[in-house]
Amino acid sequence: METSEIVTYGDRVLRTRAEEVAGLDDETRELIERMYEIMAANRGLGLAAPQIGVSKRVFVYDVGEGPHALINPRLTKTSGEQVGMEGCLSIPGLQGEVARYERVTVAGINEEGKKVKIKAEGLLARVFQHELDHLDGTLFVDKADPDTLEIVTADEKET
Ligand code: ZN
Repeated sequence: METSEIVTYGDRVLRTRAEEVAGLDDETRELIERMYEIMAANRGLGLAAPQIGVSKRVFVYDVGEGPHALINPRLTKTSGEQVGMEGCLSIPGLQGEVARYERVTVAGINEEGKKVKIKAEGLLARVFQHELDHLDGTLFVDKADPDTLEIVTADEKET
């Protein structure tokens, strides 16, 4: 798997509201497996289906505890605020500070087809919000403080 499979800034799919998925069928299972591979190959913390050109409400994430997926995720609770640097595999080399909720609860269907509600804080909460935005056609640069946007060449983790 290569970086070239990732759709980059300028592609319409990144600006399109993704479609709900019927559930964890074979097609979605395959999609998740492919996304796991691409996320790992690019050392991402998260990856949303539109980032590989698939306009469906699915994202995967791995903040160091192994990869997981959420299907049809939605934010059900939010609190607090955190400000931190973010990047995106679809906008290589750019970083900026984004204000996010410190704590979120996300409901959806996991990679085993179970209905779940996941409480997250800190980095995982940030990743969830970044990936949820992708499903609605929103990119981190829309929310970043423009004064903090910078080009980076280091191997920073991107979502
Ligand atoms: Zn991203």
